[in-house]
Amino acid sequence: MSVDTLELSGLLHTHFGYGEFRPLQEDIIQHVLSGHDSLVLMPTGGGKSLCYQLPALCLDGLTLVVSPLISLMKDQVDSLRANGIAAAFLNSSLTMIEQAHIQQEAANGQIKILYIAPERLAVPAFQSFLQDVTVSLIAIDEAHCISQWGHDFRPDYRLLSGLRAHFAGVPIIALTATATDRVRTDICEQLRLQAPKVFLSSFNRPNLTYHVAPKKNSFDTLLTLLRKHPDASAIVYCFSRKDTESLAADLVAEGFKASPYHAGLNADVRRETQEKFIRDEVPIITATIAFGMGIDKPDVRLVVHMDMPATVEGYYQETGRAGRDGLPSDCVLLYSAWDRKKHEFFIGRITDDAERANATQKLDRIMAYCDHRRCRRQFLLTYFDEEWTDDNCESCDRCLEKTEAFDATEVTQKILSGVLKTGGRFGAQYVCSVLLGRNEKAVRERGHDQLSVFGIVRDFSDAQLKLLMGSLIEQGLLMRTEGQYPVLQVTEYGMQWMQEGKAIQLARPTTNTAFSKTDDRQIVSFDQGLFGELRALRKSLADERGVPPFIIFGDRTLQEMATYIPQSRESMARISGVGDKKLQEFGTLFANVIRQYAADHQLSEKPMPAGLVRQERRRERTVGQKGSTYDETKKLLQQKVPLAEIMRQRQLSEGTIVQHIERLVQADEELDIHYLRPSDDDYRTIVDAFHLKGSGILSPVFSHFNGRYSYDMLRLVRALLVSDTSA
Ligand code: ADP
Ligand code: ZN
Repeated sequence: MSVDTLELSGLLHTHFGYGEFRPLQEDIIQHVLSGHDSLVLMPTGGGKSLCYQLPALCLDGLTLVVSPLISLMKDQVDSLRANGIAAAFLNSSLTMIEQAHIQQEAANGQIKILYIAPERLAVPAFQSFLQDVTVSLIAIDEAHCISQWGHDFRPDYRLLSGLRAHFAGVPIIALTATATDRVRTDICEQLRLQAPKVFLSSFNRPNLTYHVAPKKNSFDTLLTLLRKHPDASAIVYCFSRKDTESLAADLVAEGFKASPYHAGLNADVRRETQEKFIRDEVPIITATIAFGMGIDKPDVRLVVHMDMPATVEGYYQETGRAGRDGLPSDCVLLYSAWDRKKHEFFIGRITDDAERANATQKLDRIMAYCDHRRCRRQFLLTYFDEEWTDDNCESCDRCLEKTEAFDATEVTQKILSGVLKTGGRFGAQYVCSVLLGRNEKAVRERGHDQLSVFGIVRDFSDAQLKLLMGSLIEQGLLMRTEGQYPVLQVTEYGMQWMQEGKAIQLARPTTNTAFSKTDDRQIVSFDQGLFGELRALRKSLADERGVPPFIIFGDRTLQEMATYIPQSRESMARISGVGDKKLQEFGTLFANVIRQYAADHQLSEKPMPAGLVRQERRRERTVGQKGSTYDETKKLLQQKVPLAEIMRQRQLSEGTIVQHIERLVQADEELDIHYLRPSDDDYRTIVDAFHLKGSGILSPVFSHFNGRYSYDMLRLVRALLVSDTSA
């Protein structure tokens, strides 16, 4: 089956309220609808769910979604239902009676999307249920769980291997945010996917800003960050369970709402903490890495690592929990050399040699990330084998840092001499101590306080000196050895440079970059006061319904409302995230609050920039405007000019004219289009099919007729139906 683009974007707008597809979404959806298997690799927040949810709406039967986490199923289903989509889940949290009821509804065709946990496939009652329903699509979420090479192997996922054979001809779509080549191949093999098309999206998260800062007054730094994101959700990762508790207590003492989370807390406490976080009751969680797996909160604005994590993989995954909704969010890592020691202590206990070496190597890489002198984003993406050629990402501390070039010849000579005179056997920290002339025991014991280089650097701080060492590594004058105790050494090129005594320029920061640029980014144009009121309304509606606030509307939606101050139904419908169902259910409530606020603060509605409004909606806005393309079509329709003649006069295709008709009818234009009715027989047949399919969606009706009627014809009849009911 193929569905035309206009129809897909129509569904995207009607059901989800979104203006346009994210990268790859439309291609994936078309591929799924064409009946073939696919593997989708997209980062967290990339918009994977839509890739099976939208096809589910186009297809006749049931879409089965396999998902590993019970906690997430409920949120997914709640959020689909809030959009007016018939969805349900089956898992062990339901009673037998509830389960039987849902199966009955699914068998009756009253449910379009059914979420299940993999173990359900082994339940005999479920197996016989599957005999009774038409399954049109199978989606496997978190597909890496099927691979033992992944980080989250779940034996129950192996039950999915039988699906391909059992549901011959039903497309399977496997989705994951984490997959190395090995896991990727494994997923396809284990699921027995048939010639699957692999969709690999960029793993760049453009809305995340990455910062790394040395651990110095880290609590104050944390307070600054939290104040920068008032009331917003934040996750603060700590090294130990004890740290999470003391940090939460310190934050509470400062007046923040914070709770600790770690695997040592009992299950009830953990559940309650998660729940409060998701419901926006406790915005800050101080946690060990145990926190995050079962959480899909879209509006986490800040992820802070109070200690260096153990691997780049872990870091990318933990920071990935920020900003799933696409709004700007900060990821900050605070580190010190001491962090390395803490990890080494645990690595030292690993008995398997290869495993230990592997862990050490990973630690080296994350250290390298912290010390990296250039774009953090580039480091991360290159780490995951993605090519990234952009020189300045404008959203990491390195790219935001303002630097100036200075003549570094003298200080470079001093640094290289320091490394040589201490024998090339020490790390950056130690060499700094010598160069700065620190009266330290380790230095004295080795007699390095007697060296000519002891204390020769005067006008640079420890941190500046380390930055310069980093630059010299990049320039190839110094190198850092690998392994457990990396040391600095002068390279051959460095030796040569010293002999030649050439001048060298290096860059040094002119501003304290501590999170400055993101500060600017926070000054977005929305009205904070109104945003606060809309959030309060969202929270109370969510509580009434027993769902998390983001199910009602996401932050982006509220921010758009607080920017454009929409007060009418029409302008409300243009806000991203406001689909038909939500418009109907919440539109008036939100518009009332906006109207009141606007009156109190003398605000008025603002026009939306074209970029925000999707193409079709832009066209819609021209409906009714004098001289618009719609107006011309409208005039001809009023004169009851036949369709073919309108096409000829306007030099437009049938599809475009029908689309004009749809828009005009939807815009409530007084327009009699009955003269366009096809023959009574055709008209009745098509109308019956719309009733049979129970919705105004074209594709099921199109496939019902096996192509006997064109999409344009179906659209025209649908428009006639609409104009009938509105008359
Ligand atoms: P993933 O499963 O890949 O982590 P989700 O499917 O949860 O991502 O989507 C992340 C967020 O992006 C959700 O809030 C979702 O509603 C939103 N989203 C998805 N597709 C679009 C789109 N085309 N336009 C706007 N928002 C979208
Ligand atoms: Zn950058």
